[in-house]
Amino acid sequence: MPHTRQVSHVLAAALAAVALSAPRGAAGDRTVLAIGAHAGDAEITTGAILARHKRLGDRVVMLHLTLGEGGNPKMSPAAYGEQKKREALVAARVLGAEALFGPWKDGQLRDTEEAARFVADVIRQVKPTHVITHWKASLHPDHAAAHRIVNEAVLLASLEGFESAHPRHRGVRGVYYADNWEDAEGFTPYLYVDVTEDLAAWKAAVTSYEFIRGGISSFPYLEYYEALARVRGAVAGKRSAVALEVDPFAKRQILDALP
Ligand SMILES: [Zn+2]
Repeated sequence: MPHTRQVSHVLAAALAAVALSAPRGAAGDRTVLAIGAHAGDAEITTGAILARHKRLGDRVVMLHLTLGEGGNPKMSPAAYGEQKKREALVAARVLGAEALFGPWKDGQLRDTEEAARFVADVIRQVKPTHVITHWKASLHPDHAAAHRIVNEAVLLASLEGFESAHPRHRGVRGVYYADNWEDAEGFTPYLYVDVTEDLAAWKAAVTSYEFIRGGISSFPYLEYYEALARVRGAVAGKRSAVALEVDPFAKRQILDALP
């Protein structure tokens, strides 16, 4: 996408202004939209945050841009895709989340204008206050593409000049990046969310996926993310926590005097 660099600067300024002026969210007034490249990404990384916000009375929604149907060497992508969709619907039900699906194929997600427009339209319909997606650097090109698509889409959704069937949405207070083992390069935990009370719901949700229960991938998903919640929790002075990163501009604090 040719204008990505310019767009990110415009978006940075817009979101920085929002971050400085927006009041802290109150329980029940948030809509958290988690957008993952593959079904399972949003749940495994931030499902505990979604469960927590559902418990607080907020609306939680997941958008899976692809089903991640290419990941099972023992099944055809079509058959595994059907399985992943069923697993995603169960996971969403357990978390109390709505599940939406993008039209792309595993391994073929690209940051095209079409993709940004699709996600912008979802944002206009869901009207999130908070968006969570992949960090910018990743072992997986689909994840890195999702990062760029989502950032462009948040901006597009807010612009009067972007015409779609739904009115513009300017209510995104922040874009947050998930702590994902595949997206670790340059990821520095910035926000820590206490999920001590929500880890059981998270575990019940994510184990709807066969690849997380074990037996498909050699990566020990469940053990890794359980241990990570403990590690992040230890640093945060909590039993369990999930960490998020934000863009550098979102870390800017402007004060009248030193705190
Ligand atoms: Zn993924």
